[in-house]
Amino acid sequence: MIKKINIKLLPQEAQDDNLVVKYALEKAQIKKSDLTDFLITKKSIDSRRIPVKIDVSITLYVGEKAPSLYNPIKFTKAHNDKIVIVGMGPAGVFAALKLLECGYTPILIERGEKVEDRRKSVATMIRENKINEESNYCYGEGGAGAFSDGKLFTRSKK
Ligand SMILES: Cc1cc2nc3c(=O)[nH]c(=O)nc-3n(C[C@H](O)[C@H](O)[C@H](O)COP(=O)(O)OP(=O)(O)OC[C@H]3O[C@@H](n4cnc5c(N)ncnc54)[C@H](O)[C@@H]3O)c2cc1C
Repeated sequence: MIKKINIKLLPQEAQDDNLVVKYALEKAQIKKSDLTDFLITKKSIDSRRIPVKIDVSITLYVGEKAPSLYNPIKFTKAHNDKIVIVGMGPAGVFAALKLLECGYTPILIERGEKVEDRRKSVATMIRENKINEESNYCYGEGGAGAFSDGKLFTRSKK
């Protein structure tokens, strides 16, 4: 039997895989002794409300083994070839990660502010109608939509 479970946990709970499995088993009403394998397929941050929660998707296996879907990232020693990435949105950050995996040294250039400072610029834009043209909803560390519900997350159940 294979059962897919979605649970919302506090960050400190979500980082403990044993706790994730415990809560998932409770929700699925499966006994721990019956579990033969599990696969945590997603952990995404939902910071729209306080307290911040982590959406966790986990597949529980009873009487069968989980497929080995994931290749753990293997970082090789960085050599001196540097590659410049313009823009620190999701695409830029992901490209930097991939380059690091391949042993290149990425240099990320971003026109806008750090994500912490962007919050102030966005607040000023909303409250005072003053736009910082370099740092707003679209520009700055984290890229467009950084203050939405989280990157590459869909609310659609389909
Ligand atoms: C208001 C809003 C809400 C959104 N909400 C969601 C959501 O909830 N979930 C979701 O999955 N998607 C959401 N999106 C879509 C998502 O944000 C985009 O698909 C994603 O950001 C695209 O990533 P990107 O890296 O290609 O580009 P961008 O995120 O646009 O990143 C480009 C980066 O390049 C920088 N840049 C631009 N020009 C220069 C330059 N000349 N020099 C240096 N840096 C530069 C910018 O400052 C920016 O940081 C939202 C978008 C917006 C605008």
